[in-house]
Amino acid sequence: MEDLPTLHLLERALRGSNFDVALASSKDRLDAILMETSPSLLLVSQTLQGVDGLKLATEVLDRFPTLPVVLFADRDDPVIYKKAMRAGLRDVVAPPVQVDQIVNSIKESKKRAELMGDWVRREVRRTTASLEKRVSEMESLVRLGKNIHGSLALDDVLSNVVTSAVQLTGANEGLLMLVDELGQNLVLRAIWDGSSEKARIASESIKDELALEVIMGGKPVNYSADSPGGRKANADTFALIYAPIFTRGQVAGVLGVINKQNKRPFTPHNELFIAVLADYAAISIRNAQLFEATEKERAKLDAALTNVQDGVILIDQESRIMLINPVARRAFGLGMKNLIGVPISEAITDHSFNEQIESIRGNPLKHHELSFEDGRVFNLQYTPINGVGAVIAIEDITHLKMLDRLKSDFIHTISHDLRSPLTAIMGYVELLDRVGPLNDQQKTFVNHVQNSVNNITGLVNDLLDLGRIEAGYDQHQDLVTLQTIVHHTVDNLQQQAIEKSITITCNLTEPLPNVRGNPIRLRQVVDNLLVNAIKYTTEGGQVTVDMKSEEDHLIIKISDTGVGIPLPDQAHIFEKFYRASNAPRGVQGTGLGLAIVKSIVESHGGRIWLESAVGQGTTFFILLPAEKPE
Ligand code: ADP
Repeated sequence: MEDLPTLHLLERALRGSNFDVALASSKDRLDAILMETSPSLLLVSQTLQGVDGLKLATEVLDRFPTLPVVLFADRDDPVIYKKAMRAGLRDVVAPPVQVDQIVNSIKESKKRAELMGDWVRREVRRTTASLEKRVSEMESLVRLGKNIHGSLALDDVLSNVVTSAVQLTGANEGLLMLVDELGQNLVLRAIWDGSSEKARIASESIKDELALEVIMGGKPVNYSADSPGGRKANADTFALIYAPIFTRGQVAGVLGVINKQNKRPFTPHNELFIAVLADYAAISIRNAQLFEATEKERAKLDAALTNVQDGVILIDQESRIMLINPVARRAFGLGMKNLIGVPISEAITDHSFNEQIESIRGNPLKHHELSFEDGRVFNLQYTPINGVGAVIAIEDITHLKMLDRLKSDFIHTISHDLRSPLTAIMGYVELLDRVGPLNDQQKTFVNHVQNSVNNITGLVNDLLDLGRIEAGYDQHQDLVTLQTIVHHTVDNLQQQAIEKSITITCNLTEPLPNVRGNPIRLRQVVDNLLVNAIKYTTEGGQVTVDMKSEEDHLIIKISDTGVGIPLPDQAHIFEKFYRASNAPRGVQGTGLGLAIVKSIVESHGGRIWLESAVGQGTTFFILLPAEKPE
């Protein structure tokens, strides 16, 4: 203020009225005072060292909106007054200076400012409290959301949702209704009337016109007794919010809060909460339903697996156990310990089992025998399941093995016992024409006897062979060149083939690896298969032998254009004494040849299989481990 006498007069008058006064003669000084003292009122002269006082006051107000600012105008000018009021100044005083009037104006402005300050503080407190409440509500919602999404038990979820709905809205009651499975009735599933700590679970049919309206309309309602729809609610209901619960695009139920004793309508904010909670409920209902359905399926599968005769282990792609039935547990003595998620090699420590599983995995042949030290024998079957892992089925074949051994022993004994009398019969038959001349008819009879005895001797020899191979007595091992065996056998059988006008072709050109094994047995394999090929092929047909090496195997393929083997017979064709249903009547056979072939191939670590079509022909494939070249 540049009018110094007036200024000092004012200063004195203000100090006399118990005000602390600080004078600022420049803008910088004013700034300093504002920062240091936080004054309760500012009196600005209209011009201050060439600075526009009104502008200065406006700037100060921008920074301290609640500071009362009074303008000391140069003259009593209504234009200045208007400008000052518009800029938010509290008052304007102007010459002629009446100090009392100025002091009063200042006192008045200060009092109003104090009232204003109180109001602002109260407002800030109120807003802060309301914000805190919102934050706590939000936190509750987030907490609840986490709880709900973490829980798969439907009853817990429903009870939590209703309890939270009541707590968050301050309602007297809360309830949750679901449409039943047939979509016809409304069932009350959870209700809270404030009398207990949590909402109680229910399962009662309920009639509720308003809830049905919400289900049909798919929109929430927020009624109070005096709003038009409110009349549809119960007489003792003052206000209510019903929000639809949507699952998979359909209304599955209604979540509601009710005020009875509280004569208070619900706010739009409450409505929003209930809608959010209804969404939480929806997600959880869906999750819980899916979980229940999955659990049911799992229980069914469990029941089925518990009752099957075989052991079953389901493993995932990392070989961790997903399911194991009691038979499998018993087989490996695993008791009742929880094995779900445990790697199979840790759960089952049996060394040979783990070795078998490893070798089965890389092997196209999925059946393996597993023998335990205590004499039990299991058949392991490993079936990979795309995207899941694999099923290991374990069948206890101990008793079958025992029967098979008994049968083999029996056959072996019989064959053995038959051999001597057969040799004697043959010897005497051969002696017959030496002891005296035979007539033609006698010669024919002797021939018949000789043929029959030869057949039986062949059969007995085959049976003895099979017994020896199966018992593993056949340990003789040599380096064998299979091409040579094939060539010799083909040469030997050429005559038989020519008699039936059958051509035999061999494709063995590429350099082929040797195999390690018993040359006599391997010759038996090739011989049996080629004899069959000629035997079961009609006149003019073709027999072909192909050989090739693949990785570390040798593959021999013997094909013919013969009668073929019907599909149902193919599964049994390697069994002892089995003959196909279409084996031609005139073609003699015992059904032992292929059983011998299979035993020999397997005792050499190989596999045999076939492809055949009736009337078109048959191909036998033999896979043998190749000997690595030196
Ligand atoms: P066998 O020939 O003595 O009857 P095998 O064990 O050698 O006994 O063969 C079993 C059965 O398989 C035969 O009876 C025949 O029905 C069928 N079979 C074998 N080889 C062939 C083939 N190449 N073509 C058609 N059927 C065959």
